[in-house]
Amino acid sequence: MGKIIFQVSMASAKIRHFRDRELRDGERVQFHWFYFSVFIVLHIAAVLAFLPSMIHLSSFVVFFILAWVTGGLGVTLGYHRLLTHRSFATYKPIEYMLTIFACLSWQGGPIQWVGTHRQHHTESDDVADPHSPRDGFSWSHLLWIVHRARSNFDPLKLTKDIQRDRVLCFIDRYWYVPQFILAAGLFVGGWLWLGHWTGGVSWVLWGGCLRVVLLYHATWFVNSAAHTWGYRNFKTDDDSRNNWWVALFSFGEGWHNNHHAQQRSAAHGMRWFEFDITYVTIRVMRIMGLAWKVVEPQRPGQSVAEPHP
Ligand SMILES: [Zn+2]
Ligand SMILES: [Zn+2]
Repeated sequence: MGKIIFQVSMASAKIRHFRDRELRDGERVQFHWFYFSVFIVLHIAAVLAFLPSMIHLSSFVVFFILAWVTGGLGVTLGYHRLLTHRSFATYKPIEYMLTIFACLSWQGGPIQWVGTHRQHHTESDDVADPHSPRDGFSWSHLLWIVHRARSNFDPLKLTKDIQRDRVLCFIDRYWYVPQFILAAGLFVGGWLWLGHWTGGVSWVLWGGCLRVVLLYHATWFVNSAAHTWGYRNFKTDDDSRNNWWVALFSFGEGWHNNHHAQQRSAAHGMRWFEFDITYVTIRVMRIMGLAWKVVEPQRPGQSVAEPHP
């Protein structure tokens, strides 16, 4: 009996060893079973969206509109360029609206997201970077999110400005709730539009699960691919790269070397061919009087054109 207990405990220790991750600085980070389970369920649901009975034109339309609202306006414009870097200023109600849109991406609340990203900028590809490919490509893309936060990371220390705003704190506390409200709305909307309850399921799978999963990977590719493949306009101290296909799927975030070089710039695309839909959005907002204090990029001619050594 004692021998069996010993063997079982040895086996579980081996499994734990496999799932917990040892990083460059020797820290062993614990696997997060709950997050992992949520990601598995979402990925399975995303695949189910491609069942023939789930494919409807209206589901595609719902998917594209919500992907832009939550990924483009929410995560990229709201969480990243507005809250993290203050690349522009806008009215508070618009700031709160963009933050709620970002919550619908299920990438965490504003304090966690902004704190993680600010840590990424202060420690870019150094040992305390939360998601550097130097700890492994799979770690930077996906594994870091299914492990517990590292001991050297405290989002509260990095987000004092966010915490001074009581509305943002309220949104942060209940960041996961809007997704459930949206899912209920999608189910009812799809049922009414398509005339059958399976239409509601289709809208939930396309506008909810598939959208969230694809936006996860679009965001994660900025951390993984845009620190691995692509060209460099600036000699930064990190591995950031400008990657056109990441830029395409992440609403302009793939011009990541430009962004690491000029973190507060509202524009991430800086050369004529570096199309950046989010900067276009900011310019349209400025024309409409909805954005001001827009931080323009510095364009030091020779350094912008400089290839990676
Ligand atoms: Zn980066
Ligand atoms: Zn940034």
